[in-house]
Amino acid sequence: LFLTFEGIDGAGKSSHIEPLAQAFRAAGRAVVLTREPGGTPLAEKIRQLALHDAMDALTEALLMFAARRDHLGQVIVPALARGEVVLCDRFTDATFAYQGGGRGFDWDSLLILERLAQTLSGPEADLIQKPRLQPDLTLWFDLPPAVAARRLAAARAPDRFEAQPRAFFEAVRAGYARRAHDDAARFARIDADQPPAAVRQAVRAAVQARGW
Ligand code: C5P
Repeated sequence: LFLTFEGIDGAGKSSHIEPLAQAFRAAGRAVVLTREPGGTPLAEKIRQLALHDAMDALTEALLMFAARRDHLGQVIVPALARGEVVLCDRFTDATFAYQGGGRGFDWDSLLILERLAQTLSGPEADLIQKPRLQPDLTLWFDLPPAVAARRLAAARAPDRFEAQPRAFFEAVRAGYARRAHDDAARFARIDADQPPAAVRQAVRAAVQARGW
């Protein structure tokens, strides 16, 4: 099982990963927790570049997919092949939302990069019995950017994306909405503008609704 967690900065997604991991472990499943950009030594180096150095949107998109390709080959696909549950904090939908929605990079070009980067070859594809890697479920933590900004202001120093104006996050949110619309069966929208216990409950419900 491959589950991804998505949402604008300040949506609170990261704090809901560990409780879900514990629920899977309690049910006897081995769980891998990972994140993007990052998750391997190479991809973590790319993360440092992408989050702190200024660059054009294509460079940014290519770096995100380079990091992802390494991550899926080194970590995600091997874990799925062992039958483990992979919980990943951000994945390709973040690239559509941030580089596509937020930075306005061409959507169709991102679709091409997605296909290239997530195509599995030979033994990899045989192991997980899919020609292309996609999450089984994407939990989209959705809330108004104004609410997210208030949470972030109280919480931590911004990276170069979090320091963007509100309109940027409106565009990122619209990018997520477009992805959710285009792939509705894979997405579960979680109303993140609720107390943490209610959000946690919504996450459990979305997972249980799929019989996991
Ligand atoms: O979720 P996390 O805070 O670790 O994400 C790190 C930063 O990377 C976020 O501020 C997010 O805006 C940015 N990001 C991005 N494009 C992606 C993935 C993450 O701009 N494809």
